[in-house]
Amino acid sequence: MVDTQPLTASGQTRLGKVLALTASHPEASCVLGLFRRRVVGIATRSDLLRALATHQDWNQVRFSQVYTRPVITVKTSAIESIFPQLVASFGQHPVNHLPVVDAHGDLVGVARRSKLLQALCDQGNDESGFEQTAYPDRPLLRKQSQRAQLVAQITLKIRQSLQLREIFQTTVDEVKRLLGADRVLIYQVFPDGTGKTVSEVVEVPYPSILDMTFPEEVFPMEYQTLYAKGRVHAVTDVNSPDSGLSDCLVDFIQAWSIRAKLIVPILNPMNPVSSAVGPVGVRQQLWGLLIAHQCSGPRQWSTFEKDFMQQLSGQISLAFSQGQLLEYLEDRVRLRTTELTQTNQSLQREIQERQVIEATLRQREAQLRLITNHLPVLIAYVDAQQRYRFNNQVYQDWLGHSPAEIKGRSMLSVMGKAYYQKNKRHIDTVLAGASVRYESELTFQDGRSRSVSVTYVPHWEPGHSGDEQVKGFFALTSDISDRKAIERMKDEFIAVVSHELRTPLTSIHTSLKLLATGRLGELSQDGQQMLEVADENTDRLVRLVNNVLDLQRIESGEVTMNTAACDAAELIAQAAEAMQTMAQQHDIEIHTRSVSLLIWADPDYIIRTLTNLVGNAIKFSDPGSIIHLSVELFRKPRGNAIGTVEAGLADTDSNSMASRQRRGQALFCVQDSGQGIPAHRLSSIFERFQQVDSSDSREKGGTGLGLTICRKIVEQHGGEIWAESQLGSGSQFYFTIPLDYVPRSAK
Ligand code: ADP
Repeated sequence: MVDTQPLTASGQTRLGKVLALTASHPEASCVLGLFRRRVVGIATRSDLLRALATHQDWNQVRFSQVYTRPVITVKTSAIESIFPQLVASFGQHPVNHLPVVDAHGDLVGVARRSKLLQALCDQGNDESGFEQTAYPDRPLLRKQSQRAQLVAQITLKIRQSLQLREIFQTTVDEVKRLLGADRVLIYQVFPDGTGKTVSEVVEVPYPSILDMTFPEEVFPMEYQTLYAKGRVHAVTDVNSPDSGLSDCLVDFIQAWSIRAKLIVPILNPMNPVSSAVGPVGVRQQLWGLLIAHQCSGPRQWSTFEKDFMQQLSGQISLAFSQGQLLEYLEDRVRLRTTELTQTNQSLQREIQERQVIEATLRQREAQLRLITNHLPVLIAYVDAQQRYRFNNQVYQDWLGHSPAEIKGRSMLSVMGKAYYQKNKRHIDTVLAGASVRYESELTFQDGRSRSVSVTYVPHWEPGHSGDEQVKGFFALTSDISDRKAIERMKDEFIAVVSHELRTPLTSIHTSLKLLATGRLGELSQDGQQMLEVADENTDRLVRLVNNVLDLQRIESGEVTMNTAACDAAELIAQAAEAMQTMAQQHDIEIHTRSVSLLIWADPDYIIRTLTNLVGNAIKFSDPGSIIHLSVELFRKPRGNAIGTVEAGLADTDSNSMASRQRRGQALFCVQDSGQGIPAHRLSSIFERFQQVDSSDSREKGGTGLGLTICRKIVEQHGGEIWAESQLGSGSQFYFTIPLDYVPRSAK
């Protein structure tokens, strides 16, 4: 009956914490406010919920702002014999919880009306268990118990409804039933002082006063003030001089056949009694009256009847507060519903927009896939972590991996270890920000090895710091096996033809030279001239055939470079000397400038490259000009130009291109002040038979193969070759060759 471990909190505790406390103790129906073990306030669950609903900033609210005080308590010296005391206290006060305190006022526990009623019922049903000796005034207790049960039932009935009209009607019905009164009514007082009977039950034949409005004189302000302060007024006989009623009021009362009456106030729950000052305060405090009339004759009203009426008026007050709470909550729900509907609508719109965007994206991706899937090339996007993010269908056809399988996988796992390691340096290059184009061999799913041309283009995007960063790269791989096969056939054909031409050409050349000596007979002047032309052309033809055969041998790998450490300055001197005669014939000077650098190269082939470049410089320069031939330490690598590095050099090789590049390079330069080369031809002149002017071969005796041979030689050494030029004022041909050692400045 008495919960000795009730929920307690200090007045300073935040509402949120108190709510959390109740949530973790669902059996507790109230929380006590405690100060040094003294009960200073009490709050039921509905009090807490009301506070939660009414305070916008509820989490700032302290418990002391929520609980009711002063709090009615039951004092006991022995908790074991508190039963009769509780019955009396609950009968006296319209409350559901009563804190129990000891003689010092310290908290002992909390008693609940429902628990008491339950105990009473149990005792009522179990006669044998009810100790006569423990409760000598048993008949009184029994009566109190029955009354308490009745009150509880009525209270429950009232509480079951949230409709005020229904509550009023139940109240008047139950009061009439329990008190046996002739008329019970609820009278509402309006702000202007007038009033109206809003609910009534009346015994026949007494007149009904339902819905009747009365002037303020019937219920003057002085009376209203008394009732607002909680006055309960019982009149045994209106005709008795002790009734204290004025004459005019007696007349009025008699008109409705009233002989005795019991009046209790119905108070507004939200306003404290102390604020009932002045007409406005009084009317804010006093909602109306609950009145019982006896018409048949005078009547003595018992304490129980007064208490009962008071309890029911208290329940009406509670119903008001619940009604207000409900109204407030309904408003909140309406408001939230409107907000939610609006949010929902905007979400719907957003979802629709997203659906449209997604559909467009899907359509675009389908288009992109349609295009990329029908191109006979591997197309992919790889992120900075070397994982595939996009692949076209051709990956399935060529390598047997579907785009779905590949997505998110690393290049290493998809392309295989061998291919990956062979081409890793190109991946590193593109992720460092430079475009790369290279040729390689790729094994298809049917086991065939195919020649492929691969292009990597970096994907730049601004990073967090705003600087451009490489986010990944685009990879395009095309099958060039057919082209390679044709090229091979062509090369073989040229090689065979050149080879077959060389012997007869040598013979023709020798014969022409013999004829020119005149030893086989004198020729006319015209004949001699024709012989010189034939000799010149044969000479060119021999050079052409030799060049073709050289190129073919270098490309096919037939020629092995006899690389060794050699002094670059020495090679410059030798090349300059070799070209001296030709230079003098063209009235041109060769100036050299060199530093002693040990390079790792085949000296014959480097000299051949240098003489080729110097020969071109002489051919395309005016008489009287100077050609500069130099070598120096190469300090800065070339920029972002697409490299045309041949694949096939494994990184693990200590003499690999990468490892040689790490060792540093020597930079050779042949500079002339001749006719120059148009910018758009600067890279194509390194391709076979490419000449800026087609008449060059005729007039300058060129073959269009010299620079191609130079490029092949340089690349075989792991270097690069390129040209810069200013049209009309000269050209510079550069090439790099790896050093034999790491120069001090590059360490
Ligand atoms: P060729 O035997 O015709 O000189 P190359 O491959 O050596 O063949 O040169 C290709 C073309 O490049 C030349 O025909 C010429 O048009 C151009 N060229 C090469 N070197 C120079 C130079 N120093 N000045 C101007 N043009 C040049």
